[in-house]
Amino acid sequence: MSRGSTGTGWAGRSSWRWCRGLGVQCAAVLGAALAATGAKPVAPPLGLAGELGQQRISPPFPQPSVPPLTEAAARRALLRFVAARRCYGSRAAAELVIRELRPRVTYRYRLETFSESRLSEWAFEPFTKPGASRPPGDVPPDLWDVEVGVPPLFQGQTRRCRVPRSALVRECHRCHGRGRSQCGMCHGAGRARCVTCRGSRRRLKQQKRCQLCSGTGRSRCSTCSGRGSKTCTTCQGEKKLRHFRQLVITWRNNVFEFVSEHHPNFPGELLSKVSGENIFKDENLVVYPIVDFPEPAISRASRRAIAEHSAAFASSSRILRQRQTVERIPITEVHYQYSGKPYLYYIYGLENKVYVLDYPERCCCGCTIV
Ligand SMILES: [Zn+2]
Ligand SMILES: [Zn+2]
Ligand SMILES: [Zn+2]
Repeated sequence: MSRGSTGTGWAGRSSWRWCRGLGVQCAAVLGAALAATGAKPVAPPLGLAGELGQQRISPPFPQPSVPPLTEAAARRALLRFVAARRCYGSRAAAELVIRELRPRVTYRYRLETFSESRLSEWAFEPFTKPGASRPPGDVPPDLWDVEVGVPPLFQGQTRRCRVPRSALVRECHRCHGRGRSQCGMCHGAGRARCVTCRGSRRRLKQQKRCQLCSGTGRSRCSTCSGRGSKTCTTCQGEKKLRHFRQLVITWRNNVFEFVSEHHPNFPGELLSKVSGENIFKDENLVVYPIVDFPEPAISRASRRAIAEHSAAFASSSRILRQRQTVERIPITEVHYQYSGKPYLYYIYGLENKVYVLDYPERCCCGCTIV
């Protein structure tokens, strides 16, 4: 595995060294009969955290390939913007005189840290098959040794599976091993209030004796068919429960984002909603801080992001993979004149989105500018 790879794409291969073949059956969701208690997180064995921050990468950063905006494209973007808004008149957009296009450079740095955390909890299910209890002296494996397969990278997900050799069979705690529990409707009596006369013993209209309950006011309980008890819902009548440790694995994609420079009149949060031109991508088990990027704030952000993610995730979870990217987001200031007055609007992102600072032909019914 190369360190500090500068390649774009899938640089290096993950070793997945903790995934040894124990052949555990996993399911995204275990049956509804399972109940879980006493969840407890498990700290990962020492991993790569200590190696972070010791290396640097300083690759050649390519020049942008997106051509600068033309006047015609700037006007088209504004006309499209105005057409989508009721409060904006389109005449000004068509007639304004563009004086100057000032291209600005903004970079977006992103670090994604794909982490895995594990915790275990006790769960149980009705015991149906004999022989599934843990043999005496057999020890369950360390939770980080349980193989769960390779998840889709950079996608959040939770998976549950059994810890092998952790099963214990016990008498059902709800029915105390009887397999049946008292009927809640008749409280074990097998008879309940008559549904026809509602316990009054007489038919309401005729004032005659109720025939269904022969005037007793009580009839056979329909919930338990008169037995006074029902099949225990906890053990489903099996009398025993198999308790086992359930491993809960959570994969998270943690994202750090930084945009290099905002313009005084331009709301920076707009930039997170548009695409930029990808000029750098680095992916590996762990990535190293970028140095000597033409915009020093990006190098600083890379250093800070990697340190923050390492501190936040390396002790409580395992970092499986990291990816850092730098995008160049074009922003163009469009200075124009209308009715002898100067105005300004911005075009930003590869989508050529428009942000209007002030617009000469606008009514004020309170529609949003963005
Ligand atoms: Zn009953
Ligand atoms: Zn009755
Ligand atoms: Zn039971």
